[in-house]
Amino acid sequence: MTTIAFIGLGNMGGPMALNLVKAGHRVLGYDFSAAALHKAGGGGVEPTPGGAVAASQADVVITMLPTGKHLLAALEGEDGILNGAKPGALLIDCSTVDTDSARAAHVLAAQRGFGSVDAPVSGGVGGAVAATLTFMVGGADEAVALARPILENMGKKIVHCGGPGAGQAAKICNNMILGISMIAVSEAFILGEKLGLSHQALFDVASTASGQCWALNTYCPVPGPAPASPANRDYAPGFAAALMLKDLNLSQAAAEGSGAFTPLGRRAAEIFTAFANAGGAEKDFSGIIAFLRAAEG
Ligand code: NAD
Repeated sequence: MTTIAFIGLGNMGGPMALNLVKAGHRVLGYDFSAAALHKAGGGGVEPTPGGAVAASQADVVITMLPTGKHLLAALEGEDGILNGAKPGALLIDCSTVDTDSARAAHVLAAQRGFGSVDAPVSGGVGGAVAATLTFMVGGADEAVALARPILENMGKKIVHCGGPGAGQAAKICNNMILGISMIAVSEAFILGEKLGLSHQALFDVASTASGQCWALNTYCPVPGPAPASPANRDYAPGFAAALMLKDLNLSQAAAEGSGAFTPLGRRAAEIFTAFANAGGAEKDFSGIIAFLRAAEG
């Protein structure tokens, strides 16, 4: 049994913390939201009044927060994790954040003598609940080796992607593929509709032919062919368009910073910005198909 502090008990962090409890660990939780803290408390997470207090008793501190700004705020300051953590503690950040913030978090941890990894996830809320997440991990070999058995309680696949920040780099590249491919799949269904093709016929062909991809086979943006996809429940998330837009903006900032030419990534970010501004931010990102259909007039 390891004592773990879990900071950020939202849609993802809540169920991830519960899986650590189920695996037999002692989990001390903290979240700004009293409701999130209360909900996790019902599953055996011990509520604490702040990040420093939670960290002061833990061997491992996990963060699952919205953005890089939230991560650095949670680490620093009087009530910050770094102020409370025990000597030798391991810091694991599972949030999706920009690579600069991820690297800054590693530097802050190293300055205090803590091991650290960035370990963003893929698999959504369903994967968080079922403990089937994929973790993309960046950090030194020793820190990753220490993190691995903890991450195995919350996921089924753990890939060590490289040094500090490499996990975040893999995450934003993956989600750039996903954002672009969801638009591509949506455009194909809209064109198929114009050509008199049924959704099922296009699905039956493309899902087993060279057009197959996760956005089509698993997360199909029209209702019917993939019964578990959000299209079957009026695009309730799932993975909100606002979060997809956040990730596309992260990949574009990284592309600009590194000089990578990513014209489709840039266009995908523009299209999801327009969708969010038109009221789609809280819809599942596959709801982009309705936005594209409406935009064609
Ligand atoms: P969420 O908004 O549901 O949860 C974040 C929680 O962090 C909130 O409860 C908030 O109160 C808390 N918080 C913020 N700052 C805090 C602080 N300083 N101290 C304590 N608590 C603080 O978000 P989520 O959906 O759980 O996503 C978390 C991260 O995981 C994001 O970076 C997101 O991009 C990523 N992610 C989400 C999904 C998904 O499907 N939702 C999938 C993969 C990755």
